[in-house]
Order: sequence, then C-alpha cells, then structure tokens
Amino acid sequence: MQQRSEIINPRLTRRLMLDRSWQSLIAASFASVSPLAGQQVCHAQDNDSSQPGAMPSADVQATSKVISVISFQDETGSETSVEGRVLVRASDGVLLEDPARRLWTIPSVRLETETTTERPFEFFDPTQLGSRLIEECHSAGIDTDFHVHTTKNYAIAASTPEAYSQWTGQLLERMQIAFQSYWKNRRFELTPLAAPLPVLILSNQTQFAKMAEFDRTPASANGQGYYLVTANRIVLFDLTASRADSPAKTIAEIHRRAQQIPASVATVVHESTHQIAFNRGMHQRYADNPVWLTEGMAMYFEAPDLKSRRGWSGIGKVNASRLFRFREFLKARRQPDSIETLVRDNSRFGDADSAIDAYSEAWALTYFLIRTRIRDYAQYLTAISQKRPLHWDDPEDRLAAFQSAFGSNIAKLNRELLSFTARLK
Ligand SMILES: [Zn+2]
Repeated sequence: MQQRSEIINPRLTRRLMLDRSWQSLIAASFASVSPLAGQQVCHAQDNDSSQPGAMPSADVQATSKVISVISFQDETGSETSVEGRVLVRASDGVLLEDPARRLWTIPSVRLETETTTERPFEFFDPTQLGSRLIEECHSAGIDTDFHVHTTKNYAIAASTPEAYSQWTGQLLERMQIAFQSYWKNRRFELTPLAAPLPVLILSNQTQFAKMAEFDRTPASANGQGYYLVTANRIVLFDLTASRADSPAKTIAEIHRRAQQIPASVATVVHESTHQIAFNRGMHQRYADNPVWLTEGMAMYFEAPDLKSRRGWSGIGKVNASRLFRFREFLKARRQPDSIETLVRDNSRFGDADSAIDAYSEAWALTYFLIRTRIRDYAQYLTAISQKRPLHWDDPEDRLAAFQSAFGSNIAKLNRELLSFTARLK
C-alpha cells in the first residue's frame, strides 16, 4: 500500500507538520534524508514564516548557472563538501542542487567555505546518474550486483534480473507519454524534462527496507515504493518475484505475473506520477504543495486496467479500492467540514489513524474535480506550480487558494461531491 510509506509520525506538532509538508510524499524528515540538510530547512522555514522579510526577496531565487563548491560541517561534526548550483540564497542558508538533482539545504551556521567556480553547471547524463544510484546502494549496505538500464528519460539501477528493469522502463516511458497527452488536452502544459530521472529497483523487500533505512524514511520500509523528494528518486522492488520460485527471465513472463498482482503496476504508476509531476512543472520541489493534490493526482493515475495487454491503460478509471474506502469513511466517520480540513493543511495525512481516510477522500475529491471542474482544476494546478521554494502557507492561505479556484461555498461543493461519488460504480 503506497500510503504506508507516506505516513508521517503522528506525534509531530502541527508546526513541524507544516514544515514538513513540502516533503510529505516521504516519511523522513529532511534532516535525515541528506547528511546535513535537514532540520535546517525547517529553521529557514520558521524564520521565513514568522518574520516576513527574513529571507531576502530580490536575490532569493536566482538560480546559478555555474558550479559552487560548498564545504560544511555535517551532523557528526566532520567536514564534508558538495558541488552543485545554488537555487536559493536565504539570509540563513543556501539551497543547492547537485548534478543528480539532489537538493541540499546548508544553513549558514554549518557553512565553512563557499567557492563559486566558472565551470558551467550540468546535470548527470543517464550513465553517470546510474553510477551514482549504485554508489548510494553500496553506501546503504546493499552488497549485490546491480545493472543500469537507461531509456529515453530514465536511468534505472536495479538488482533485479534485467527483464524486470526493462519491463519497468517500458511502463515508465508509456507513463511519460500518457501523462503529457492527458494534460495537454486539459489545458495544463507540462515543461520538458531538464535531466534524466533516477529510478532504483531492488530485487526484494529486504534490500528495499535497507534503502528506506538509508534514506531515513523507515515508515516506507513496509510499503511497496516511495518517491524521495530531496533525491528526486523513486525506489521500488520487484513485486512479481515474491510469489514465484525463480525470477522471471522475460518481459512477457513479468507481464503475466504482474497481471496477478495489481499493486505491481499501480505502485510504479503512482510513484512515477509523483516524479513526473515534480519534474515537469506541475509541482515544485521544496515548495508547499498540498498533499491532497499531489496524492490525489497519483491515485487518479494509479488505477490499473489489468485486462489491458500492457498492464495499464484507461487514465481516469474509477479507483475501486479508494472508492470503497471513501464510502466506508462516509458511513462511519466523515465530518461535514471534511473538505475544509483536507485542504487547509496536511495534518490528516500525518496521523496514522486518519491517513487512509484522508487518502480516499483526496482521491474522491480529485476524481470529482477533474471529471466535473477541469478548467478550475487546471487553473488551481497552475497556481500551485508557481509556488516559491521555501515558502509555506498558513492554513488560511491554503483554504483561500482552494476557494479562489473552486468557489467559496464549500458546503455546496460538498453536496456536489457526495452526489457525484454516490453515482460512481
Ligand atoms: Zn503518493
């Protein structure tokens, strides 16, 4: 279940939840995701939201075209360094992107030296990216053989048989095309990819759990896949291998097995939707993206049509398991102000007890809005896509943005949502 990997520690304070909302597609705190980065982004965030003007506004978002080399003290106190381009320079730190597209927040208090070179910044090519992925796996203590499979838009490092990375690569490339044409027809133009997308596929759940541990997202270890916003990377494992005695050797065999396990296709499509949306101008990494929107989008696309020869087709099919869950929620627990609490902040996704209901409602709301209010929805997507990095909304701002797209009468919207979903089959 994807949502297992996305549950945030329910004991967090609301303040922290808000700070973490940017990376709510993963369970880890940023502090733990990259060696240094972490809490510091929260500090920058706290300053930003509590003291307007704490972040300089004029030069905040001047993305650099050359490489900077920054040395800093990591969490253990030892000096380390990273190379990349500066995305945001704030009064209390720097946001840097490395050639693999990993984001680093380096607080001023930890910064030792910064050198701006004249070397132009470039992203890794797929081969370099594949090598970086394998290095990360070795650092995570996964000592097994990996291969790199590259496709038009992806670098896939995998410890699975090659047929599995090829099958996944084909699915991912189809997803790119399908996603693009779906939105092109609905007034949201995606931007081209700036760099190849990293994908890691592990051969079993043990390796997957190790990687989740390394990525400091332990809650993901029991899930089936996750997208790590900071590293821009999808991590999956071969779901078709677990029920078989021997690994599948051909793409056709994997396809046959995948048809028996709906989650195998749905997980790839779900995580891939997140990654595409964050890389093609729909959401900004490091900005305040409402979780109901990002998750609703991924769930809208994930519904697999297993009768299809290719294992996935028919974008916008009713997601039967989410609808079932939404109806259970409606019968037993849903409050009259449910839309409001869903869109105001991400807290319902952060509480283990309420998360499954929140996911089902995010799917239902997304499905309803895309099917009945596509112009408003596309406009809302555009507004969200233009969010400033490291800037966090208050719940009131969130709600106001929602109302400005979909109308201020939420009670009416709620009635429409319920009568729409009651008719779904
Ligand atoms: Zn998700």
